[in-house]
Amino acid sequence: MIENLENTLKKAKKFVFLTGAGISQESGISTFRGKEGLWQKYDPMKLVSAQAFRDDPKLVWSWYNDRRRKILAAKPNAGHVAIANLQNHREVSVITQNVDGLHHIAGSRDVIEIHGNIFATKCTKCDFRGNIGDEFSDLPPSCKICGSYLRPDVVWFGESIKQDVWKEAVKRSMACDVMIIVGTSLVVSPANTLHFYAKNNQAAIVDINPENTPFSYEMDFSIRQTAVEGLSRLISIFESPF
Ligand code: NAD
Ligand code: ZN
Repeated sequence: MIENLENTLKKAKKFVFLTGAGISQESGISTFRGKEGLWQKYDPMKLVSAQAFRDDPKLVWSWYNDRRRKILAAKPNAGHVAIANLQNHREVSVITQNVDGLHHIAGSRDVIEIHGNIFATKCTKCDFRGNIGDEFSDLPPSCKICGSYLRPDVVWFGESIKQDVWKEAVKRSMACDVMIIVGTSLVVSPANTLHFYAKNNQAAIVDINPENTPFSYEMDFSIRQTAVEGLSRLISIFESPF
């Protein structure tokens, strides 16, 4: 039985954070689900699947350009920064479903982006991979090797996480003392199975989310606050002089 969150956190050596769209909500980036979520306005199957890209590459690319512009204008918030600051005190890995790169910008060194990055591209036909800067074309760029369209190097509906990336995420989850799950609805598989690997290692599981998730009953501690509120409180445990 874990008696006290503060004691558990202080004793732990290895932390894994599993983050989702909710951690970037206070940076002004919309989540997918929920009242203000992107899926209230758009049909995901028309935008984030390989079929959608084949049907209308221009529409999908321009939707991604809009998201890229919003992400470029956003800054990491106090939640991202608190996770990065915990590196001064403990071993920290971040496994994120986000494609916005804000954990890197905040200074986190060990970040596994299981769903890719919105500024990375890959060819729809060959193995070419690249990155785009802040110049956005109306149509998807062409591959330098084979001339086919480049697509965002993110994991779309119906696609699998890269095997080596997933293996790393599982490895970190199995080795941690505490897993802190922030701002994810835990409805996207297989990301919503990682806490089981942590639990098998007797890790404590904590979630920070203003709402319940389908796995709230599995948590040792639930902090019903936003990412900024919950993570600021958490880092204060390590940074206060007493
Ligand atoms: P989701 O939209 O399904 O769920 C968001 C969760 O965040 C909800 O449980 C909600 O209650 C919670 N939340 C909302 N505001 C919050 C806040 N201020 N602080 C803490 N929690 C808050 O997002 P998900 O679970 O990450 O869904 C998975 C998919 O969404 C992933 O594939 C990911 O790639 C994609 N996504 C990423 C971004 C991004 O990169 N920023 C944005 C939208 C969606
Ligand atoms: Zn190619």
